[in-house]
Order: sequence, then structure tokens, then C-alpha cells
Amino acid sequence: MSGADLAAGLLAEHFEVQEGELRIGGVAVSELAQRFGTPLFVYDAGVMRRSYRRLRDALQGFAAIHYSVKANPAVPVISLFLEEGAGVEIASIGEYRRARTAGARPEQILFAGPGKRKAELAEAVAEGIGEIHVETLEEITRLEAIGAALGRRLDVALRVNPVAAVQGGAMRMGGKPSAFGFDEESLDEVLAVVASCPHLELVGLHLFAGTQVLDAAVLLAQWEHGLALARDVSQRVGRQLSTVDLGGGLGIPYFQGDTVLDLGAVAAGVPALARTVPAGTRVVVEPGRYLAGPSGVYVMAVNAIKRSRGQSFVVTDGGMHHHLAASGNLGQVIKRDYPIVAPTRIFEPVAPPVSVVGPLCTPLDTLGRAVALPALATDELIAVLQSGAYGPTASPVGFLSHPGPAEVLVEDGVPTLLGN
Ligand SMILES: *Cc1c(COP(=O)(O)O)cnc(C)c1O
Repeated sequence: MSGADLAAGLLAEHFEVQEGELRIGGVAVSELAQRFGTPLFVYDAGVMRRSYRRLRDALQGFAAIHYSVKANPAVPVISLFLEEGAGVEIASIGEYRRARTAGARPEQILFAGPGKRKAELAEAVAEGIGEIHVETLEEITRLEAIGAALGRRLDVALRVNPVAAVQGGAMRMGGKPSAFGFDEESLDEVLAVVASCPHLELVGLHLFAGTQVLDAAVLLAQWEHGLALARDVSQRVGRQLSTVDLGGGLGIPYFQGDTVLDLGAVAAGVPALARTVPAGTRVVVEPGRYLAGPSGVYVMAVNAIKRSRGQSFVVTDGGMHHHLAASGNLGQVIKRDYPIVAPTRIFEPVAPPVSVVGPLCTPLDTLGRAVALPALATDELIAVLQSGAYGPTASPVGFLSHPGPAEVLVEDGVPTLLGN
């Protein structure tokens, strides 16, 4: 599949194109650009809802879905997923407050993250929280002290760094060193520590093996391993666990050649897994990217076009300071191009490939290396697809002191400007 094929497939799957122009949530992209200015992130609420419903249907009740807030922490986005029936997963007190503002009830919130501070834990406990996933001995000590001061028992789950990880379709023994969770090998000690805390109640287990999984077999194998580990822990503590959180990590296609996660295959594998879950145990998955990613389009305007030693560059008004992931600098090992389109000239024939760069004074600010687009002129629009997750809030927005991007959620023809 070429990059252009990937873009065409994504447009066909998620969006409407009318007379060669992309429409997002029923509004023409040029209208959105005019009204809100560029650069601009636009999120299509309908695409988010469809992603959620598709996953919910594939899971067939096997697992509850908690939206991972860090993917896109805009309050109306969190509200949308709550409305659909999701819970939330948060990793800071800031995300906790956003979730509450969005309407989450405390019991719908799971708190993960490897470095929760004393004040964050105290505030979450005081305001109410469903479950806290402890990842360090310090967190256990802090929570025990908080519980003791309040004179009540707090529900905690242990995040486990499994000894076996499923990678590339095969189970690999000898998990890697990680700051996330407790090593499975040291679980007995950790369980003993928790058991010695009179104000803590171990209610669950949390495993999260890896992000951006596109292979349904890998995902199912990870889930199977998580459930097996939960049964093992439940035996060791002589008690059933009320929650098993299997993490997020459901992937979406970003690059030429990426496959699409086959939800049909996930659905086919789920009943066998569901049969191994004891009655009374609630299974949770906590995807972020899968739910929010496809809905988002990063819309920029062309600022300049230049040639350098035989290569064409399109300089845009947006860049890596808004969209670090699209520049390949958010953890990617190999830099590849996100799907990029000329959103007002969708079906037009393409010119020779160009590099798409932003305004920052660094070669890192490259959003596309060989992008097939129609020959563009200054002020025309250019857009990055798959931009609904890990966008501005995962980017160095302060770098070079350019203004931040506007963010707009569009539903049924009505755009809402999102505050930060
Ligand atoms: C980031 C994160 C997620 C979401 O990951 P995705 O790859 O976006 O699905 C889920 N759970 C935890 C604990 C996380 O840190």
C-alpha cells in the first residue's frame, strides 16, 4: 500500500469527501480553516463514536472500556466517551480533574502511572476514585498512610510488568526492565507488603504490554497471558480479584504498509477468553489511540514552496511543535510519513513527491519526507490524518514561541472550539 493508498483508505473509511473537499463532522475543511484559522486540529465526534461502538461490539461484553485520557484530554472528548458508556483511565491529578469536569463519577476512574505524588494520591482519594493502580513501593506506603489518616481501607490494584511478553506474534520469556509496574518475579514480596497494610485492599491486577498493536493474535495472546497471571495471583492471595485491567495498546494504521487491527479476529477470539474469567471479575481494557486517533485531522496552510538541490519543500504554518508524533520524534525508531493530503483537492492527480516541513529552525521539524500531493500554492490547505491522539498535548508547544493550535470538535455540522 502506498502512502496515498493509506490516506485514500482512511478518507473512505472515516470521512466524507464532497467535490474533492474533505468534510469533517459535516463541515467543509475550508470553512473550518476560515473560521478558526490555521494551524488547527479538528476532531470528528462521529468518528470517535463509531470507533468506540465498533470496539464495544467486538468485545461482546468481555471487557469494559476505559478511555485513556492522555490520548486526547479535551473535556468534551472525555464527555463524549463517557456518554458512550466508557469509564476513564488517568495518570495524573490534572487528568483526574478533567475527567471529573467531563462528568466522570469517581468509581468510573482508574488511576495508573509510575510516579504518583503524595498530594495527587491524597486528592484523588479525598475526592473519590474507583481504583488506584500502584506501581512502586512508595505508592503503597503513601496510600497506606492516607488510608490510615482517613480510617478506611482503599482499593488498590497492582500493575505487573510480566515475565513473558508477546511480541511480533510470539511469546517471549524474560520481560524487559521497566519503570512501569512491579516485576512479575517479585510479585510475592509485593503481595506480602500489600497484605501487611491494614488500610489497603488488593482488588485487581493491571498489565499493559505495549502500544500500537496491529496484530489481533498478539493482542489476544497478551490478554490471555494477563488473565492467566490474574488467576495465578488470585490463587496466591486466596481470593478472587474484582478487576483485571488488560491495558490499552490497540493500534491504528499510520504508515504505508501498516495493517489495520482486525476487529473481526478480536471478536472471534474473545468468547474463549471470556470463558476463563471467573464470575465476579470485571475485565477492563483502556485504549486511547484507537478511540481518538482516527477522528483527528491536523489542518495547516502552505506558507512557502521552495526547491533545494533538486528536492521540493512545502513549508507549512504548522509543525512538530503541535504534532511531534507526525514528525517521527515521539518514540518512533524509524521516521516514516503519516498520511498527508491536500484536503480541498482530494482526487486530483499528484505531482512528484515533496517534503513537508514546519516553521521551526530544526531539520527535526519535518512532517513528511516523500509526500504525493497535487502541486500546491501558497495559502492552500494541507492536512495530516490520524491526528486525534497524542497531538498538541504530546508536543513541545512552547518550542520557538509560536502560538498553539486551535482545537475544534465537530458533531453533526456544529463545531465547538475546545478550551485548553
Ligand atoms: C498510555 C496508556 C494507555 C493508552 O495507550 P494507547 O496505546 O493509546 O491505547 C493505556 N493505559 C496506560 C496505563 C497508559 O499509560
